[in-house]
Amino acid sequence: MSNNQDWDLETKAIRTGHARSPEMEHSEPIYATSSFCFRSAQEAAARFAGDEPGNIYARFTNPTTRAFEQRLAAMEGAEACVATASGMSAILATCLSLMQHGDHIVSSRSIFGSTTVLFDKYLVRSGIHTSYADQSDIDSWRAAITSKTKLLFVETPSNPLTTLCDIQALANLAHEHGCLLVVDNCFCTPALQKPLELGADIVIHSATKYLDGQGRALGGAVCGSQKLVGEEVFGFLRTAGPTMAPFNAWVFLKGLETLSLRMMAHSASALELAQWLEAHPSIEKVYYPGLPSHPQHELAQRQQKTGGGIVAFEVKGGKDAAWSVIDATQMLSITANLGDAKTTITHPATTTHGRLTDEQREKAGIQQNLVRVAVGLESIEDIKADLALGLDRLK
Ligand SMILES: *Cc1c(COP(=O)(O)O)cnc(C)c1O
Repeated sequence: MSNNQDWDLETKAIRTGHARSPEMEHSEPIYATSSFCFRSAQEAAARFAGDEPGNIYARFTNPTTRAFEQRLAAMEGAEACVATASGMSAILATCLSLMQHGDHIVSSRSIFGSTTVLFDKYLVRSGIHTSYADQSDIDSWRAAITSKTKLLFVETPSNPLTTLCDIQALANLAHEHGCLLVVDNCFCTPALQKPLELGADIVIHSATKYLDGQGRALGGAVCGSQKLVGEEVFGFLRTAGPTMAPFNAWVFLKGLETLSLRMMAHSASALELAQWLEAHPSIEKVYYPGLPSHPQHELAQRQQKTGGGIVAFEVKGGKDAAWSVIDATQMLSITANLGDAKTTITHPATTTHGRLTDEQREKAGIQQNLVRVAVGLESIEDIKADLALGLDRLK
């Protein structure tokens, strides 16, 4: 298996994890098989007893999936990685394998919608309760921690307002209280941000987003220590079953090869778009960590390699103005998905955050005039021209 700890991230993204078969294929093969054979009854017994490493059944391991796991682990600087059927099943597996009845989570308030539903509607039924803290306010996290708190959960930058959390400070707080810090690194990916190096215990991914990069497959991953992830999370997954399909693992392997290049290109275009929006007369406010006007610009420069691909902005006017900008676009995709070569545009207040009460939405700072753009890889001039169709009319 090719694996060199000294390689740079860009090399690991292309070379780590491929164990060439005797056929000497150049691109990674897809092992489309649900089970594996043994050379003898003795070998079967040894594998089942765990005395000998090797494949048994695809719910446990699959060589294509393992290649993806090894590659992503190398990129995140993790001892272990387990791939899952989706980002949500990565979060579910982490919570159910590392917590039990009576344990408590403190999460940032502004997290992926389904994660909130998982915490508030389903984990509570297993006696695991969640409290929420303000992303950027460490005192608010400290105040929410109780003697039952086991896990701190954060997304940074947040969706859609790109609020940052100081990962190092939060890791220190977590460890002072004997808690684990879990970071959903979906928005930055290891190409821009390495939470484990900053002290986080576990990194979660929705591979569906930037790791794929072209919106083709659903998947997720959990990265961390051999003890927590290689044993605990893996043990849950091989039993419960939301594992990654080998075809999807192959798609993500291909995605990882270009991840760094893509993240830099998404970021360069996002910065240019953010600057252009900030100067546009129809715009009230722009949210982008790469802008000097972002309240945490200094932290962003320290913690992330670039600002990332997500830009949010408030237009002058209310919901109607926001909707008119979205509806005037001819090229951009009106969809809540992100991390795609295709630029997407969303009205968070009525889609991703539509299920929140007015009060919750107010608290989260999601106004009716807010628009989110996940900047893709089309020409930035064409992206600006498409947004100008609606914005120029607002004046
Ligand atoms: C999409 C997303 C998820 C969930 O991932 P799925 O692959 O859709 O299950 C979790 N966290 C963040 C930040 C996401 O954007």
